[in-house]
Parts: sequence; structure tokens; C-alpha cells
Amino acid sequence: MSITRFKQPVRLDYQVPAGPTTDRFLTGILEKKLLGRRCPACRKVYVPPRGACPTCAELCEEEVEVAQEGEVTTFCVVNIPFEGQLLTPPYACAHIMLDGCDSPLLHLVGGCDVSEVRMGLRVRAVWKDPIEPTLASIRWFEPSR
Ligand SMILES: [Zn+2]
Repeated sequence: MSITRFKQPVRLDYQVPAGPTTDRFLTGILEKKLLGRRCPACRKVYVPPRGACPTCAELCEEEVEVAQEGEVTTFCVVNIPFEGQLLTPPYACAHIMLDGCDSPLLHLVGGCDVSEVRMGLRVRAVWKDPIEPTLASIRWFEPSR
């Protein structure tokens, strides 16, 4: 017999500098606004915002507020529990294309049974109270129609 695996609790606290683009995004969150940036070349809007367009490499400086409603483009239902899991399965994670945005936002879909989640489902943001400067201030996206 050989020991190939053992449990070892590990904790690492660290701070990440937000930078000006993320700072503005998180400040918008505190106002319940979803702020993106538009590429001056291809005109795509990114949320969360990017300092530079991943396609064109152009600086994205134009700020754009996008809708808090959008469409599920793809999703998965998590049914299997795992160590360190914060939510109780089953729950749905989805790529949500917010109206006015060209990049999907990864978030939870809730407020409905996971069997109701599908591609094309219209959803809207449900905010937590109080709001903190994190995307987790959106509890989840729930069906809007
Ligand atoms: Zn671009």
C-alpha cells in the first residue's frame, strides 16, 4: 500500500490591485450599474471591461453601461458536490449575453428550477443587499419572461 493523497488544509490571503479599468467596473457595481468598455475599432462591448480589445488589441476607453437583462447563451447544471463548494447542488452556471454587450458574462441562474434553464432564456440581474464591490453582489440572474 502507498499513500498517494492526503488532506491538507491550506489558506492563502492575498490582495489583487484592481487597476483603473476594474476599479471603474467595481465602482459601477456599487451603483448597481454594469459598465463595460467599447473597442474603437471593432465596436465590441466587453463586460467586465477590458483595457484592450482581445481581438484588435486597441485600447478600450469608451465606457458603456449595458442592460441588466440578457440571454443565456450556454449553461451547465452542477449536480455533483465537491470539496469547498459554496452552493448546494443542483445549481446552474451560465454564459449570459447582456443586451448591449458582445461578450458573455459567467454567472449563476437562479429563482427558478434548474430544469427551466435553457439556451435563449431571457434573464435579469437580482442584486444582493447590501452591495459590495464584487460581481458576487449580483445574487444570480432570474428568468425575466
Ligand atoms: Zn476590437
